[in-house]
Amino acid sequence: MLIGIDLGTTNSLVACYRDGKPQIIVNRLGKKITPSIVSIDENDHVLVGETAKEYGILHPDRTAAVFKRAMGTSKKFDLAEHSFSAEELSSFVLRSLKEDAEEYLKEKVDEAIISVPAYFNDKQRKATIRAGELAGLKVSRIINEPTASAIAYGVGEKGKSERCLVFDLGGGTFDVTVLEYYRNIMEVYAIAGDNFLGGEDFTQILFEMFMKRTGLDQEVIGFRDLKYILKAAELCKCSFSESDVGVMNVTVGKKKYTESFQLSEYELCCRELLEKLRKPIEKALNDARISLDDLDEILLTGGGTRLTMVKDYVRRICGLEPVSIPDPEETVAIGAALQCAMKERSAQIEEVILTDVCPFTLGTEVIRDNGSFEIPGVYLPIIERNTVIPVSRKQTVYTAKDDQRYVTVKILQGESRIAANNLFLGDLTVEVPPGPKGKEAIEVTYTYDIDALLEAEVKVVSTGVSKKVVIHDEEHEESENEKLSRMKRLEYLKFNPREDEENMLVMLRADRVYEESLSQERKEIEELVEAMQNALDEKNILMIEVSKKKLTELLDEIETGNSDQYVA
Ligand code: AMP
Repeated sequence: MLIGIDLGTTNSLVACYRDGKPQIIVNRLGKKITPSIVSIDENDHVLVGETAKEYGILHPDRTAAVFKRAMGTSKKFDLAEHSFSAEELSSFVLRSLKEDAEEYLKEKVDEAIISVPAYFNDKQRKATIRAGELAGLKVSRIINEPTASAIAYGVGEKGKSERCLVFDLGGGTFDVTVLEYYRNIMEVYAIAGDNFLGGEDFTQILFEMFMKRTGLDQEVIGFRDLKYILKAAELCKCSFSESDVGVMNVTVGKKKYTESFQLSEYELCCRELLEKLRKPIEKALNDARISLDDLDEILLTGGGTRLTMVKDYVRRICGLEPVSIPDPEETVAIGAALQCAMKERSAQIEEVILTDVCPFTLGTEVIRDNGSFEIPGVYLPIIERNTVIPVSRKQTVYTAKDDQRYVTVKILQGESRIAANNLFLGDLTVEVPPGPKGKEAIEVTYTYDIDALLEAEVKVVSTGVSKKVVIHDEEHEESENEKLSRMKRLEYLKFNPREDEENMLVMLRADRVYEESLSQERKEIEELVEAMQNALDEKNILMIEVSKKKLTELLDEIETGNSDQYVA
């Protein structure tokens, strides 16, 4: 069975295509959204999602979040005595979603279409595929998030040709896609964006405003208090959708801080951040050779676009009323599920032919000889950014020295004129026959497939020897043996049993609320926790349900009564 997965920075969702329509699959807690958070508890059990989020408040040293930002890098996240890469942590999230889908569909799930930010580079895409493999999923397709949103929204369903800009501001990434939909063909013209800009940066501004107002020192207060403040900042930010005044209520140490902020004051502090949204819009339109006047529609998606100032800003700079895609949290997963149906050529769904583009220029490093002197370290683009994929392009390079025996072709990605400033993806070395400088010609061919994954080929023209080499990601490429041993290492970590998850979540929440409360409330929590623990020890299902209900009601009451700073 094939499923569609939105592997988000903050939250992840899984969907499938069944009974003639795409459907979001609910997780083990009955929720559509699974936070992209992973913890390893004291029993070496892997916790994912809501449970990990709750666990993480009291055990930050055993919890990781926003790891998608480190996809494709060698950054390690330490969770107690364990250390994981972003792709390994993502594989836990994927495994959890896969299990939820299997439970929901009552069949085995072994294949997935996973969405990635359009602006993800080759390394980040490959890391996503590896994360899928580690989770036991064959990743049959990688789909760009804005493209998935556009499919889900049904761009062009009115039958006319439409030029559309998809503005996607997620938790940690920002993507702009310019596309045209005409007669079942969705043609992506250009993508641009920023992998390090998202809703979290707007939260950070409120956090800084709060710290400044209260005079609290980030260096002095503990990690847990910092998390509380960030959480309160996020809630305050989200409340601006409904009100012109936002309140942050946080207890740090024993002191309670209540600060209210005017929306106008917040907007002023976000001015610089808003300005950062302009460049990718201009770049995408420029690359697509489309002017603002030619646009028929601007679609807003991603949680960050719920901020009215973001919508106002887009309207102001584009001069067109943007349309917010309904349920922006769900559209990417729905789009991925529709893509699943298209892949399986479902009879109910008309296939949308997708043409996509590569987000970055791919090239190599050369020495430029201008006749009188040589300039080393020059970037030679081979496939320009925003070229329609799949694509294959060739460039010929020559030997640089007399009797040179080897030529090393560096595979680079980026836009800088100086080769060293671009991202190094790998290199290939080929043997050439000796001879005078410039005699031997070497053809370098780059092929970018539909998932925006790259292959390179080098051909020595004189010998006719064509050596096809698949670029490997040196840092991360693994042999089959390495892959197996990594899977074994991760398998050792058992997932928390599904059926326990709900109970565990309530108990974790009780632990946290206990820490935040005082006197009478603590007593009440303690009593109910003990009752629930008894019921759990005795495996008394009826009593578990009764005590869980009572405890949840008490926690709800305390949390809404105390302050609104936490959501369960
Ligand atoms: P996504 O990755 O698309 O789920 O977006 C997550 C981001 O959207 C986070 O930074 C959230 O804080 C932000 N977000 C969600 N709801 C709102 C809201 N009502 N107002 C402002 N930002 C929001």
